[in-house]
Amino acid sequence: MKVTCMSLSNGRKYLAIPGPSVIPDAVLQAMHRASPNIYEGELHDLTKSLIPDLKEVAMTAHNVAIYIGNGHAAWEAALSNVLTRGDTVLVLATGRFCIGWGEMAQSMGAVVQTIDHGMQSPVDLVQVEAALAADTDGRIKAILAVHVDTSTSVKNDIAGLRGVIDRVGHPALLMVDCIASLGCDRFEMDAWGVDVMVAACQKGLMTPAGISFVWFNDKADAARGNCVTRYWDWRPRATAEEYYQYFDGTAPTHHLYGLRAALDLIMAEGLDHVFWRHETLARTLWAAFDCWSQGGPVQLNIADPAARSHAVTSVAIGSPNGARLRHWCEHQCGLTLGIGLGRAPADAFFRIGHMGHVNAHMIMGVVGTMQAGLTALQIPHGAGALDAAAGVIAAS
Ligand SMILES: *Cc1c(COP(=O)(O)O)cnc(C)c1O
Repeated sequence: MKVTCMSLSNGRKYLAIPGPSVIPDAVLQAMHRASPNIYEGELHDLTKSLIPDLKEVAMTAHNVAIYIGNGHAAWEAALSNVLTRGDTVLVLATGRFCIGWGEMAQSMGAVVQTIDHGMQSPVDLVQVEAALAADTDGRIKAILAVHVDTSTSVKNDIAGLRGVIDRVGHPALLMVDCIASLGCDRFEMDAWGVDVMVAACQKGLMTPAGISFVWFNDKADAARGNCVTRYWDWRPRATAEEYYQYFDGTAPTHHLYGLRAALDLIMAEGLDHVFWRHETLARTLWAAFDCWSQGGPVQLNIADPAARSHAVTSVAIGSPNGARLRHWCEHQCGLTLGIGLGRAPADAFFRIGHMGHVNAHMIMGVVGTMQAGLTALQIPHGAGALDAAAGVIAAS
């Protein structure tokens, strides 16, 4: 009998998409338990223990509020605590995600002014400076930016953004989405002068989707408008005197155990080492793409390495090769790659998530699997990718 479609996909799957990310066994095991006592004891101590660690991963001495919800919930929570209907927000669009945050602000009654940098470039500080300088009557209440836009894999210069705001002397709040970068790319909330930052637990924080966070400083708290409603108010959550105030209701018990285990992994490795690991694995991947792109349609979306995320990589490969390669890697090899989010046509793009619980053999597995897929599907590509990727690992 001739079998024409053998699959090598049985075995542990690898979901290499930019969230949800790989969940460590330690997190899974921490969550596998009976419901704990929610009135007193271990769960209360565990929740309190999360707060200093959440501040440490964001590099802030200010406040953090926990919400039961995904990243979109944190977006809305952050906006609702600072906005008054009719306020202007400046959206620095570098892909789908900051546009989405701006649409949410608009639906809450804000006037949205957008600087659109397209799908392949980071924020242009010169344009931002001009927009802020032109706002002589100080209408812009907040500037919305993403640290890493997960659709384009661009990484923005947040410290540079603060520099521009200060040079102009503009009073706007700097609000940053670190949902795809926290615990992956270096981010220093206080040192970089960020007033509000949002993140969720299912990307660099390696926990199943379901809780998210808003960090805010006193300037942001003092800027409070009239949009905030009882549930989204960050004040009781950040200054909880009764246990239930952390969540305004029942605690997300198992997520808290999972997050505790994930933060333990980050703290044991050390944040600097976590950042270095992500950077080295990203460079491993880029080295492979530098070879593949030498002859054929495969191209990294962001040309400048300094403007690339260390947690997600967006790739152009021509329609319908993106969909073909994703399908092949999944069904032949058990590797799931991310879709071309926010791009047209979507099947001309794909993304690789390399955030959180990822190590060298996993990245080499991704590179080797994609090499096999490019070959099997006869998508033209340059040679030497595996050697180049292995070289980065070897030199580290
Ligand atoms: C994933 C992501 C979001 C959305 O988070 P959800 O948990 O899916 O709501 C927002 N912004 C960025 C940069 C992201 O990567």
